[in-house]
Amino acid sequence: MTDINLSRRAVTGALGAAAALPMLGGVSFAQGGAKAVGQPMPRGVRLPETPPPAPSEGSVGIAIVGLGGYALRQIMPAFAGAKHVHIAGLVSGNREKAEEVAAAYGLEDDQIYGYDNYADIAGDDRIDAVYIILPTGLHEKYTVDAFTAGKHVLCEKPMAMDPGECERMIAAGKRAGRRLMIGYRCHFEPFNLKAMEITKGGGLGPLRLIQTQHQYSVGEGVTPQNNWRFNRALAGGGPLEDYGIYGVQAALYLSGEMPTRISATQMLMPDDPRFTEIVPFIASQFTFPSGAAAQLTTGYNVDGLNRVDAWGSRHTLKMNRATAYSGQEMQLTGSGKDESLNPGDPSVQFAQMMDHFGQAVRDGSPILTGGEMGLRDTRLIEAIYRSADRERPVGIRPDGTMRRL
Ligand code: NAD
Repeated sequence: MTDINLSRRAVTGALGAAAALPMLGGVSFAQGGAKAVGQPMPRGVRLPETPPPAPSEGSVGIAIVGLGGYALRQIMPAFAGAKHVHIAGLVSGNREKAEEVAAAYGLEDDQIYGYDNYADIAGDDRIDAVYIILPTGLHEKYTVDAFTAGKHVLCEKPMAMDPGECERMIAAGKRAGRRLMIGYRCHFEPFNLKAMEITKGGGLGPLRLIQTQHQYSVGEGVTPQNNWRFNRALAGGGPLEDYGIYGVQAALYLSGEMPTRISATQMLMPDDPRFTEIVPFIASQFTFPSGAAAQLTTGYNVDGLNRVDAWGSRHTLKMNRATAYSGQEMQLTGSGKDESLNPGDPSVQFAQMMDHFGQAVRDGSPILTGGEMGLRDTRLIEAIYRSADRERPVGIRPDGTMRRL
């Protein structure tokens, strides 16, 4: 098998000025720090016509921190299917939007907090936990502040901007004696659970190769100033943290291994106003101790794909729309097999994930996707950027930290 054939030298040579761009691992592209700022109601939000019923006895009350697209379109509606959690508060910098959302979800005005009085959730016994659904650059602050307020935390992926932030979040949770979970919903989604069962159960034969593609093409007009996903201080390096992280996750949960070596190639487009602060495309290759490999690509500058394929010595598993909210498809082929698998409804993943968190908060049960997993992935993301910046492979220890090869 060959390495991914994308030469960063060729790409940066063609871009000319790109060669002068500071290395991501070294110098920051940031323009000012990350600050929580209220945003307008996202497009395409359908608020419930009737408020949810009263929560059941023992249900864990969760305050939603950040009322953006993911919170309002996916997460808040999914509470209707959850048994162990309910919405108990809102935290937003846009009071008018928060009041409209609160009314639709049957919350009182005194259950709405701003970023300026977030610490006051400490005195609100209706709130047991928070769900952080803010841009990445704000995850550490709002997680640590929630722990200081005595609340448990479910935090969206990517966990944080760098491993140091993740370590501080984990330490703050331990100090407070509160639980921390990362919102890795694919661990609760039937197609991905089936894929884990097949690959880890040897159903493909010894694993040879995993390929993941998480990419889409962003339209003109976005800039680091008008969209946080393109702003270094709020998003980190780019699509790798936002979307490619699903490939990092799949490579690990399908192989059941940690890589020992990572090599990566990035494409920089600093003359494009969308990509002045972020890396728009990055491809990486993981080598596992078993000899298997994973090839991951992610980008904001190529046509949409959400795909994970795994080849074993006998069979191949192909998932197209592999890690999406819905519309998953899965094929098992090779050695005379050609089966379509339909293990369940992907839309249960949100409620299942939140119920897992609620149960862990209530009875102290283990969390499948805890802060240590987020830290591990953040270390691997750092290693991918390091390899791309230095144009050479990096060694990886079992905990995800880098070592010199
Ligand atoms: P979004 O832009 O739609 O919403 C972000 C929200 O954060 C805003 O509406 C606002 O309420 C708040 N905010 C506070 N300060 C802000 C600032 N300075 N700039 C922008 N927004 C600010 O983003 P989103 O798609 O909802 O993403 C939020 C989080 O959810 C991110 O961590 C993202 O990675 C995660 N996410 C996860 C999934 C998933 O499938 N697990 C999907 C989408 C997003």
